[in-house]
Amino acid sequence: MSSRRSFLEKSILTAAGLMTTSRVSSLPKIPPTTQPSALVISTWNFGIPANKAAMEVLQKGGSALDAVEAGVMIVEADPISTSVGLGGFPDAEGDVTLDASIMNHEGQCGAVACLQHTLHPISVARAVMERTSHVLLVGEKARDFAHDLGFPKTNLLTKTAKTAWKEWKSNNPKWRQYSTDISNHDTIGMLAIDQQGNLSGACTTSGWAFKVPGRVGDSPIIGAGLYVDNEVGAATATGTGEEVIKICGSFLIVELMRQGYSPEEACVEAIRRIKKRNPGKPELFVGFLAINKAGEHGAFATKDGFEYALFQHEENKLFQGRY
Ligand code: ASP
Repeated sequence: MSSRRSFLEKSILTAAGLMTTSRVSSLPKIPPTTQPSALVISTWNFGIPANKAAMEVLQKGGSALDAVEAGVMIVEADPISTSVGLGGFPDAEGDVTLDASIMNHEGQCGAVACLQHTLHPISVARAVMERTSHVLLVGEKARDFAHDLGFPKTNLLTKTAKTAWKEWKSNNPKWRQYSTDISNHDTIGMLAIDQQGNLSGACTTSGWAFKVPGRVGDSPIIGAGLYVDNEVGAATATGTGEEVIKICGSFLIVELMRQGYSPEEACVEAIRRIKKRNPGKPELFVGFLAINKAGEHGAFATKDGFEYALFQHEENKLFQGRY
């Protein structure tokens, strides 16, 4: 990590817009020093079992892409998690709609938004990447696409989620006024480095509980909820997706790392921008994770409570993100 002084200088330069294109382009790229060991990092405590599944892939010599897909699928299929996949809380009309994206070391990416009745949106996102020349499919047509590929139709609304929705609805008969319920919305964002030193990432969520029907968050927006540049690093986000989209959060973090920021410094700067745009909103939650090509990681959030799971050097541990 560079010194606080150089970090502050970078912050001031960036804030003042003094880092011109020519200045930036002359900055060195992250040096591909020694080959980093395999690594998986992901958001929240459901990252622990997800990391385990991802690391199993990496330890067998599998790709980072296969690892992140296998990892987040664990959470998508877990009915206990009420903010991802099966068991996710529905929108204001009681429909569970899912957002997901995936990106590989070649800069290829795929995503789905507002996808219903599909257990593994991450695999549909991967199919968009690998089997079409597009990046993002949405809504009913995304479901048709999944159906054509043989993804079974699955009811994702569990009894618990239905009960929670009914209770919310009885307290919010005029849902078009849009609730500010921020108690249930956590994404699994996962980043990995494989034994070849290649990076990939995946991001999947049911989004904001009881959201306005049709709402799409940051998770399927490449550059917002997820971004991977194999020369530099990768980043992913959780929290209020609208604020992540407004600053192109994950892309911003990767670009800051390209300019020489450490993963942690880059996350700090992205959070600083979000907080600056949202004065007087102490409840606003956004958290970022980042890794660089050298296998260093960083995490930072707008407030306390951000947990992330890191599997590196044979250990899979939960950490508290700084804020
Ligand atoms: N970022 C997700 C969204 O806005 C939700 C979350 O991670 O809390 O849909």
